[in-house]
Amino acid sequence: MKQSELFTKTKKEYAKGETSTNAKLLIKAGYIDKLMAGVYTFLPLGLKVLNKVENIIRDEMNAIGCQEILMPVIQPKENWVTTNRWTDMSDILFKLEGVRGSEFALGPTHEEIVTPLVKQFVFSYKDLPFAVYQIQSKFRNEARAKSGLLRGREFRMKDVYSFHADEKDLEDFYERMSKSYEKVWQRLSLDNITYKIFASGGSFSKYSHEYQTICDSGEDEIYLCEKCRLGINNEIIFDQDSCPKCGNKKLIKKNGIEVGNIFQLKTKYSKSFNLVYQDKKGDNNLVQMGCYGIGPSRIVGALVEVFHDNKGILWPDAVAPFQYHLINLSKSNSVEKQAEYIYQRLLSKGEEVLFDDRDNVSFGEKLKDADLIGVPCRLVISDKTDGRIEVKKRNEKYAKLAGIDDWLSIN
Ligand code: ATP
Ligand code: MG
Repeated sequence: MKQSELFTKTKKEYAKGETSTNAKLLIKAGYIDKLMAGVYTFLPLGLKVLNKVENIIRDEMNAIGCQEILMPVIQPKENWVTTNRWTDMSDILFKLEGVRGSEFALGPTHEEIVTPLVKQFVFSYKDLPFAVYQIQSKFRNEARAKSGLLRGREFRMKDVYSFHADEKDLEDFYERMSKSYEKVWQRLSLDNITYKIFASGGSFSKYSHEYQTICDSGEDEIYLCEKCRLGINNEIIFDQDSCPKCGNKKLIKKNGIEVGNIFQLKTKYSKSFNLVYQDKKGDNNLVQMGCYGIGPSRIVGALVEVFHDNKGILWPDAVAPFQYHLINLSKSNSVEKQAEYIYQRLLSKGEEVLFDDRDNVSFGEKLKDADLIGVPCRLVISDKTDGRIEVKKRNEKYAKLAGIDDWLSIN
C-alpha cells in the first residue's frame, strides 16, 4: 500500500487523557481511534493486525475440528432470565429496550444463546461430541475502561463451546484445547511470557485455567512457579500457597494480562436449558459443556505493551500490518523510479509492503513514522544509497546495504 493513499496519518502528540501505553502508541501511529472510554475504531492498519491475530486463532481452532458460526449480538432477555444472569451479571450487562416493553441484552458471552441453539440438533450420544466457535464483538459495561484495548466495553472475543456425553470426553477435549492455545501463543510470539494459571472454577468446577501474559501493566496479580511454568491467580492463592502441580513453595508474584481462558462448565448451562441426550441404554443425560475464550483485541493491546520501545511499536512478523516498510528519501526522479521498481517487485512476490512515497513529508518525519508504526523490516532508498538499498530490522540497531537486485533475489 502506498502511504500517500492511506487516509489516516500519524499524530504529532499522544492523545490527551490516554494513559495506557497500548492506546497511546496505537492512536499516535494511526492504528485505532477512540470513540469513548473502552470503545475504539480499528483503522486500516489496526484492522490488518486484528485480522491477523484472529486468523491465527481461527486456524488453530479449525485445526482441532471446531466449527465456526456467528451468533447474534442482540439477545432476548428471557434467555438471560433462564440462567439468572439477567440479574447476576447486571453490573456488566448492557440492556436495551425494544418495542412494546421487550428487553434485550448485548452479548457479553454466549452460553445463553449457544445452549438452546445446539439443543435443536442434539438427540442421542451419536450427535456428540462437537465444538462450535465464533469470533465476534462482545459488550460489557466495564467499570474501569482505562487500559486501551486491554479492557474494552466493546471488544473482540473468540469463544468456543464444546459438548460432550461424559466428563472424561470433556476433560480430553479440554487438554486438546490447552495444547492448541499453546500453539496460538507461539504463533503470536507470546509463548515465552504466557503462563497457564490455575483460577477459580466457579461453583461447579474445581479449577479453570487462565492464560496470563506477564507484563508490568497487566491488571491481574499472579503467582508463578518457574519450575513447571504454571501459576495460580490471586483469587485462589489464599487456599493454595504452593504450585498445584509440583508443590514448589517459591512462587513469584507478577502482573499479567489475561489473554485467554478455558473452563469446564460441566452441566451448569445444559441444566438451565435442559440440554440432554439419550445414551446407549436409552436413558436421558445432561450434556457436558466446556467454554474457551481468547480476546483478540486485548491481544493487540498486549502485543504493544510487550513489544515497544521509546520510538514506537515492534510488531512480531506474524501480526505486523506489513512485512516491509519501503521508504523513499530522495526527490530525484531516478531514485523514485528505483523505489517504485522495488515496490512492484515485492508486490509481485506477494509481499506486504507499506511504501512511503509521500512527497510532502520531511525525511526525518518519514523515519520517525516508520519507527512509530513498527513494521518489522525497513527498506530505505535515498540519494546516498546509490543504486543499493538500506535494510534495517525494527529490532536491530544497524542497517545493512545491499544491491537492489541481489536483495530482491534472495528475499
Ligand atoms: P477479566 O477478568 O480480565 O475481566 P474475564 O474473566 O471477564 O476477563 P472472560 O469472560 O473469560 O474474561 O472472556 C474471555 C476472554 O476475553 C478473556 O480471556 C480476555 O482475553 C477477553 N476479554 C474479557 N473481557 C475483556 C474486555 N473488557 N476487553 C477486552 N478483552 C476482554
Ligand atoms: Mg471480566
